[in-house]
Amino acid sequence: MARKLTPPVVTAESKAFFDAARAGKFVVPFCTACGKAHWYPRAICPFCSSESVEWRPASGKGTIYTFSVMRRVKEPYAIAHVTLAEGPTMLTNLADCDFDTLRIGQAVTVVFEETDGGPPVPMFKPV
Ligand SMILES: [Zn+2]
Repeated sequence: MARKLTPPVVTAESKAFFDAARAGKFVVPFCTACGKAHWYPRAICPFCSSESVEWRPASGKGTIYTFSVMRRVKEPYAIAHVTLAEGPTMLTNLADCDFDTLRIGQAVTVVFEETDGGPPVPMFKPV
């Protein structure tokens, strides 16, 4: 895929995620008080308001919750919501795939795609 990707805005709450991404690791914020993972990154758990949030390695496995293929651009791409095996649903792109064979519920795995001068971003490809 030759599409040039805009680098993500790295905030205080997402810095640890993108530092891990630079090292090729996929991590998600996990609340040790209620035991749930969440997305997007927040310092306070969205389920129980605890500040006991830590980064944990994630499997990188998920399923397509929904997707849309952007075809009327020079370099078509697919945006998607992917539900991670750890629970949260993440807004992302689908990469390395035939857009015509994508299906809701399809199993996918994380791949990191390089951005234009920033940290890599997580996308997902069919298993
Ligand atoms: Zn919690």
